[in-house]
Amino acid sequence: PAARGTLLYLDGITVSFDGFKALDTLSLVVDEGELRTIIGPNGAGKTTMMDVITGKTRPDVGTALFDGRHDLTQLREEATANLGVGRKFQKPTVFEPLTVFQNLELALKSERGVLATLRFRLTGQTRARIDEILDVCGLGDLQDREAGQLSHGQKQWLEIGMLLIQDARLLLLDEPVAGMTDEETAKTAKLIHDIKDRHTLIVVEHDMAFVRELGARTTVLHQGTVLTEGSVDAVQNDPKVIEVYLGR
Ligand code: ADP
Repeated sequence: PAARGTLLYLDGITVSFDGFKALDTLSLVVDEGELRTIIGPNGAGKTTMMDVITGKTRPDVGTALFDGRHDLTQLREEATANLGVGRKFQKPTVFEPLTVFQNLELALKSERGVLATLRFRLTGQTRARIDEILDVCGLGDLQDREAGQLSHGQKQWLEIGMLLIQDARLLLLDEPVAGMTDEETAKTAKLIHDIKDRHTLIVVEHDMAFVRELGARTTVLHQGTVLTEGSVDAVQNDPKVIEVYLGR
């Protein structure tokens, strides 16, 4: 495959709250099609970093570019979502009274404009697209179930499906396996492996077994900046990382 370019470029990002630097000259470069895991102790700045990428928080200084062209520091959340930045918070936020199918239908129609929806109706592809996502997320048998009746894991997969159906180019997943059983965690790892070739993913995670399972390049944040970056093995054996985790 042809070399793929940089999708996300953060450089020198600083975010202060009352003089306290939640992010301190943070730099992060993620290539199109990459799966990146982000780890770091509580308070390291992981959430603030996601807030900057989605336009929820504007940095004091620094560069944040999406696809080399879009200045994320000047965009609000709706605008970054429209560019294809899809965020999943730790707690699932599906529409509980609607069925699984209806949740996906709503996600499809709310993101694509009116014209795109018409085009999908005319070509009859809405159904096919939803079926495809149901299949990817392993929710085919549950498509008529109310989302409120799903297990915790199933809700999380549905929410990932809602980002996929909106063709998110960059998926930000915040602790996707928190609260999951081992079996659900394994299914989530498989889901991420299945979608990673077609999407760029940043996964913030505390569960090191899961990070290991994903086997991706890993960035360690500490005190608002990058402590180190590399393979899971390399970062886990890095004395700086061991000190940060054991020293707290
Ligand atoms: P993480 O997600 O890695 O746990 P956060 O990005 O939530 O870290 O927080 C980084 C630091 O910034 C923490 O010390 C936190 O208390 C502080 N912080 C985050 N948001 C705010 C805010 N809105 N006001 C004040 N301090 C904040």
